[in-house]
Amino acid sequence: MGARSGKDFLARLDSTPREIWYGDTKLTGSVSGHPAFKGVARSIAALYEMQLKPGMEFMTYASPKSGDRVGASYIQPKTREELVQRTRMMRAWAEYSGGFMGRTADYLNSSLMAMAAANEFFGHEGRDYAGNVQSYYEYVRENDLVLTHTLINPQTNRSVGPSKQTDPFIAARVVEKSSEGVTIRGARMLATLPIADEIMVFPSTVIRSGQDDIPYSIAFSLPVSAKGLKFICRESFSDDSGYDHPLASRFDEQDAVVVFDDVVVPWERVFILEDPEKANRVNEATDAVVFMAHQAIVRECVKAEFIAGVLTMIAETIGADQFPQVQEKIADVLLTAETMKAFLAASEANAKVNRWGILTPDYVPINSARNLWPRVAPSFSAAIKQIGASGLMAIPPEEILNSPARADVEKYYQAKLLGGEERVGLFKLAWDAAGSSFGGRQDLYERFFFGDPVRMASAYYSWYNKEPYKERVKELLHRKD
Ligand SMILES: Cc1cc2nc3c(=O)[nH]c(=O)nc-3n(C[C@H](O)[C@H](O)[C@H](O)COP(=O)(O)OP(=O)(O)OC[C@H]3O[C@@H](n4cnc5c(N)ncnc54)[C@H](O)[C@@H]3O)c2cc1C
Repeated sequence: MGARSGKDFLARLDSTPREIWYGDTKLTGSVSGHPAFKGVARSIAALYEMQLKPGMEFMTYASPKSGDRVGASYIQPKTREELVQRTRMMRAWAEYSGGFMGRTADYLNSSLMAMAAANEFFGHEGRDYAGNVQSYYEYVRENDLVLTHTLINPQTNRSVGPSKQTDPFIAARVVEKSSEGVTIRGARMLATLPIADEIMVFPSTVIRSGQDDIPYSIAFSLPVSAKGLKFICRESFSDDSGYDHPLASRFDEQDAVVVFDDVVVPWERVFILEDPEKANRVNEATDAVVFMAHQAIVRECVKAEFIAGVLTMIAETIGADQFPQVQEKIADVLLTAETMKAFLAASEANAKVNRWGILTPDYVPINSARNLWPRVAPSFSAAIKQIGASGLMAIPPEEILNSPARADVEKYYQAKLLGGEERVGLFKLAWDAAGSSFGGRQDLYERFFFGDPVRMASAYYSWYNKEPYKERVKELLHRKD
């Protein structure tokens, strides 16, 4: 089939049965027509459509298996041109949402393509896990599927591991193995984009090597239609009005807790089974973490640029752009954008062929960028609030434009550079980015989507080679002249 169109995506979405719970309702019928999903479904469809447009050939490449054009985020780069093609493609998708969609398909495609290149890591003992990963990558690539994933055990009691909870089946784990496959019971969080085609379940937190935690050391994938698989959604932030909620109405990807009610994972979809050592090493050993972070950093560059654009427009619109503290806040965001772009450029300039044969961005700038981002991104909403001030609350609902009060909006909401209707639209966008339910979720996402920044920083501290710096200090301390 190869690279699919928006219509293909929507047709599959609506014809794939799945158990999505929204409030007291189990979704039946058209998912793409449901108020909680229609905006994001339309946006994903637009992304798929984009890759087929004339002039956008860089978004696809010829599949090494079928020869069909397939999405460029599946490329296993061997050359600098291929690495840059991946970046170009990812940037085009990120620009569509201003970086507000974190889970466009290229995020997990990047992980899967790296794991497939490193499929030997998964081994062949007992079962051909290496072959399973390779076949799954090819299946996803040839059908251009979008994946969701869950890495984290439910937030029940973080002071003990999953086997020590009051019920050892709260966190998803192996129940039994049969000729059919592996039965999984329990839950995982948090799956962004439950309207995906498939789910990948991979370990992220460190699994202790004691016997009790072994059943939690698993990695597998499933179609979202798998029997017993449930997605329990949070409240939607979406809305019908693109004027009132320009971001939420289009890009609310939704987040769900995933329940596995004795779901049977067929053997060909099992990648790691009861192997804590592999589970703990998989992301680093396969370089999946590098390629996922590479995709994330491309998006983060775009988002920082977009936020800088929003801030500049607000400041200019109300004539606040001359004030030094306003300029300083915008300069901070511009510095973030340029820093992230510099990390990205350095990672690509120093890319090396990894032990699995693919050209891999340098991990030092990649790891630095992914640690920096959760520290700087939360300042975006603070800057929008600082500069937008009360204007962020002078945002009457769209209906007022069709009422007798419209003239008041045009007169009293006008700004130095914009009429009332346009000014309110701009400030609604800013509020959606920084303060609405959607904006609040964005802030949380940027803090946590790549893991807990506190533990990431500890890991960064341990990993970073600080010895050369210490040597220079010692040399100065011992200098005699
Ligand atoms: C909007 C959003 C979308 C997400 N989407 C996805 C997704 O699609 N797929 C997915 O798998 N995950 C997703 N995540 C989850 C993300 O991976 C986690 O939020 C992240 O790994 C942190 O884990 P946690 O939320 O369980 O926090 P917890 O581990 O419960 O941490 C809670 C607090 O306790 C502290 N803490 C906990 N344990 C320790 C420890 N051992 N040492 C020091 N401090 C500790 C943390 O610093 C934090 O302050 C998403 C998260 C968000 C917010």
